Amino acid sequence: MSESVNLLGLDAPALAGLCAGWGEKPFRARQLMRWVHQRGEAEFPAMTDLARSFRERLGSHARVQAPEVLRDHRSADGTRKWLLDVGAGNAVEAVFIPEAQRGTLCVSTQAGCAVNCLFCATGKQGFSRNLDAAEIVGQLWLANKALGAAPGGERVVSNVVFMGMGEPLQNYAATLAALRIMLDDNAYGLSRRRVTVSTSGVVPMIDRLRDDCPVALAVSLHAPDDALRDELVPLNRKYPLAELLAACERYLARAPRDFITFEYVMLDGVNDSDAHARALLAIARRVPSKINLIPFNPFPHAGLRRSPDERVRRFGSVLLEAGIVTTVRRTRGDDIDAACGQLAGEVRDRTRLAERDARRIPLVEVRT
Ligand code: SAH
Ligand code: SF4
Repeated sequence: MSESVNLLGLDAPALAGLCAGWGEKPFRARQLMRWVHQRGEAEFPAMTDLARSFRERLGSHARVQAPEVLRDHRSADGTRKWLLDVGAGNAVEAVFIPEAQRGTLCVSTQAGCAVNCLFCATGKQGFSRNLDAAEIVGQLWLANKALGAAPGGERVVSNVVFMGMGEPLQNYAATLAALRIMLDDNAYGLSRRRVTVSTSGVVPMIDRLRDDCPVALAVSLHAPDDALRDELVPLNRKYPLAELLAACERYLARAPRDFITFEYVMLDGVNDSDAHARALLAIARRVPSKINLIPFNPFPHAGLRRSPDERVRRFGSVLLEAGIVTTVRRTRGDDIDAACGQLAGEVRDRTRLAERDARRIPLVEVRT
């Protein structure tokens, strides 16, 4: 069984290839995809409209296996968070955020992260490993099963954001396969505008994503000039702002929306002055964009503070008054310690694999 292939990570061509190798027609692969992703079926014997020989072959060579749920938390505001085991003492989180008009699932792509942004506890953990496509898609598979269907029969998860732990564009192959599965009509059928990849700015991979699978793009900007961004997002030293913004402009030619979402974490006394707001405004005038201000979520030894509410408002008004769509991300799920990464930290500590506290971002309302 250990050599079996996990079907959760196979996109349509890969699944068709697997089935073709067994002499099965292409439509059988599509049928299988629907069983796995649309009906959430993990047991091959239950896939009754597939030939018995096919089911037996699947039973000996394939499996449908999502990451194991270590904890399942529900918040009073409806937010739900799953802590998932991804092996060797590593855990990641997936978070579901219900809103009136949609339900957003926030997925992780890596255990830890190598980018090491100054304000991010996941970065402070260091990089452990990339998730594979099955582990990324498995988060959506699990959420759909756990949440069931809405009263109208439609799926509860209407949007997916790649904003959990990890830098998706530093785990490109798995992220791309996962995106293709999420968009596939025989799987989850999400439209490109309802799936958002968030990146700290891996410029060459922004171009590849535009060519391979242009979904909605969020870029973690956090600073309007290179000197400051070099400090906050160390990847900026490799791909400075001018290159990043040029990549954003190139992306827009194919993007499913006509804007990029710029994320900007609000750090007291660091990046939150009116002068910073005006510099950010100049960027937003150049690149069609919406700005999402994220009040910093503190964690132990971060050495940083969240900007006061009034400062966030003032900062936002500089942008709003100039006609830039600006939103402030709302914290959700506080009562279940929805700070992503926190529980992962507890598990790591318990297994003595990491000493550092891993508190990170709050559960948030994501406006894209
Ligand atoms: N690595 C990707 C996606 C995951 S992080 C990226 O950086 O875009 C998702 C968002 O959470 C990013 O905008 C990130 O900057 C933000 N974030 C990280 N740590 C945070 C903190 N302590 N408080 C508020 N937002 C944080
Ligand atoms: Fe990695 Fe994103 Fe955290 Fe930066 S903010 S360390 S890129 S997860």
